Amino acid sequence: MNIMVAETAGFCFGVKRAVEMVYNLLSKGVKVCTLGSLIHNEYVVNKLKNAGVIVIEDIKDIPVGYTLVVRSHGVTKSCTDYMDKNSIPYVDATCPFVKKIHKTVESESFLGRKVLIAGDINHPEIMGIMGYCRGDCMVFKDHQELKKIAEKCKNFSVMDVSLVAQTTFDANEWIKCVNLTKNLFTNPIIYDTICNTTQLRQKESEKLSKISTCMVVIGGKNSSNTCKLYNICSKNCKTFWIETCKELDLDYLRNCECVGITAGASTPEEIIEEVEGAMVTDFESGNEENENFKELLEESFKGDYHGRRIKGTVVSVNPSEIYVDVGRKQSGIVPKSEFTNDPNAKLEELVKVGDELDLLVIRTDDQEGTITLSKLRVDADKHWDEIEESYKSGEILEGVVCKVVKSGILVAYKSFNVFIPASHVGGNRTIPFEEYLNKSVRFKIIEVDSRKRRIVGSIKEAKNEERGQELEKFWSDIEVGKVYKGIVRSIKSYGVFVDLGCIDGLVHVSELTWDRSKKPSDVVSVGQEIEVRVKSFDRDKGKVSLSYKKEDDNPWTVIKNKYPVGTVFETEIVNIVPFGAFARVVPGVDGLIHISQIADHRIESPGEVLSVGQKVRVKVREIDEENKRLSLTMKGIDNPQEEGLQSGEED
Ligand code: SF4
Repeated sequence: MNIMVAETAGFCFGVKRAVEMVYNLLSKGVKVCTLGSLIHNEYVVNKLKNAGVIVIEDIKDIPVGYTLVVRSHGVTKSCTDYMDKNSIPYVDATCPFVKKIHKTVESESFLGRKVLIAGDINHPEIMGIMGYCRGDCMVFKDHQELKKIAEKCKNFSVMDVSLVAQTTFDANEWIKCVNLTKNLFTNPIIYDTICNTTQLRQKESEKLSKISTCMVVIGGKNSSNTCKLYNICSKNCKTFWIETCKELDLDYLRNCECVGITAGASTPEEIIEEVEGAMVTDFESGNEENENFKELLEESFKGDYHGRRIKGTVVSVNPSEIYVDVGRKQSGIVPKSEFTNDPNAKLEELVKVGDELDLLVIRTDDQEGTITLSKLRVDADKHWDEIEESYKSGEILEGVVCKVVKSGILVAYKSFNVFIPASHVGGNRTIPFEEYLNKSVRFKIIEVDSRKRRIVGSIKEAKNEERGQELEKFWSDIEVGKVYKGIVRSIKSYGVFVDLGCIDGLVHVSELTWDRSKKPSDVVSVGQEIEVRVKSFDRDKGKVSLSYKKEDDNPWTVIKNKYPVGTVFETEIVNIVPFGAFARVVPGVDGLIHISQIADHRIESPGEVLSVGQKVRVKVREIDEENKRLSLTMKGIDNPQEEGLQSGEED
């Protein structure tokens, strides 16, 4: 007898998570109860019972001091509302895949669409889903029942319907229901909510049952997904449905050439091992080994070898391929693209001769004598749970852009290529996507399709979230007078915008330079890094006013230091007005020579004596910093004695 155990047999992600949550609470001393059995497996339920977990049948029966763990099937909305309202402590272990269905039916029915649910109306998962529908919904177990229910409704063909399925619904029956829904209703919206785990398990079991003499399906008699496995396998070979190894019909099995074992999502590993162990022991003690069996089995896989997991030992590595020994006469080849999706990776650095790899057969070529293998696809199975966790938690991830496609880019992350639609790439749209190639980007997962193993991500959302965090920090740190370094983003007539990292601040033209004769473009240029000081800010309006002027350059400080009252110096006339003339003192400050201060004799107009551009000697009469006025005179400065006593550096 040869025994083959399905790789997908045993606890699924949702069940494993729920059981771990309960044990985690118990380890902290929390008293736990569940509404109905946590999972459909008597062995596990008894184990939990022995550990102190109480099973109640009505939400109103939760004992005082106990925390209710909502099982992976989920509960109705009214149930969680009741617990919230009455402050009953609970931990929600609803499987995220089921939660997604809750959200879907809630929003679809809210929009006035009739919800069609493919599944078992008596199953707790379906009861929970129904509880999230706002209004009527229709539940049916197969496409025939759907037809009957629909035809009973008035004007059913024009009804707006949305179709979902129980996570463990039979995949083949689902296709029939989808086709019928499209025929019966005008504009149906179909949500394929069958859990990928279930589909994989069903597919593998089907395959295994086709090459086995007999199948053993392990799982609770009340487990719907185990029931489906049993039905699938029974179509191909003699199948036994057992809960524990005590029910094994060893008399029958020992005469079978090849026995396949699969198990429902609620079956713990230890029971599967126990069943396998019982068969092996029986076989070893009473039968002679069929030496040729392995060869025969291998023969039976011919043509159906694809999709099998095997182990291979690396025998050589080159930049584009890895050669592995898979214990067969054919050569095993793992192309680089099936080993890693990182375009920058070097195979020689990732693997070495002698390494043992878990691989998936993707192609056999008997003529060439090669087997093409994939490590990426094996890793994908291992990493999928992590992907779903990251999706749920909204974690920001990092990957390398590996390809530009028609409507976006692909980012290599772990063993997956994450599709980033063009609208989610963000950044400067004028930059061609090719420029992102081989660069590292941060992104968030915004959609996963477990069935097709497709992941959609958004760089834009990751950036927005990170920007939000940076902004929060920025606003909590900012204060008037604080100095920042920033990049000049744009120049306007009224000032310049400076990128401070997470926000742009404005330097008004009056705060750019003390020299008011200068335009903003005379002072800074786009792209220049400058140091700016916060003048004021308004968090509610998201505005920051900045200053680029330096106190050391303040012309009034310069004037006070360099041109105190009485200083005589040579300067230039820059403007002439009826009441006098203006002479440049320092850039940005012109001093007024009043008409009465131009000459020792009376003049009718300044133009009689002065002209623009003329060099003159002047003396500082008065400095009025508050009103920004500087008064000069041309009188009495030719007195050498006075000049000698009071002239400044310029003299
Ligand atoms: S079968 Fe799928 S949907 Fe159901 S609990 Fe397991 S992982 Fe969740």
